[in-house]
Amino acid sequence: MTQAPAQHRPPRIALIAHDHKKDTMVELAREFAPFLTQCTLSATGTTGRRLIAEVGLTVECMLSGPWGGDLQIGSRLSQGEVDVVIFLRDPMTPQPHEPDINALVRACDVHDVPCATNLSSARLLLKQLAARV
Ligand code: PGA
Repeated sequence: MTQAPAQHRPPRIALIAHDHKKDTMVELAREFAPFLTQCTLSATGTTGRRLIAEVGLTVECMLSGPWGGDLQIGSRLSQGEVDVVIFLRDPMTPQPHEPDINALVRACDVHDVPCATNLSSARLLLKQLAARV
């Protein structure tokens, strides 16, 4: 099936938050909920389930991050199926799936996909996108 041109469809946003950043992600999603409800959302498993339960968003949930969810998102992104990544990383806690995290961020750089890895950049990115719709 042919996809609508990028300017005619809502952004496809992938959302990921490490454990200590999940409350922040929920707050961010509440703040931008009117915009995010218009987007096509995917997320790593635990992040996605919280956004569904606590914000009421429709989110396609991948595997949990440590079980390959970041890689699933990176794979989709590499195939042109993700437009933006919001990845609230915890820089203070070692992650068992650090290679997967690096692979996802690298895939964003390889394919020139915007990737916000902290709250301030996420808010800037979402504000900019929300202003377009
Ligand atoms: P989670 O994965 O949303 O399933 O917790 C996020 C991550 O740790 O990469």
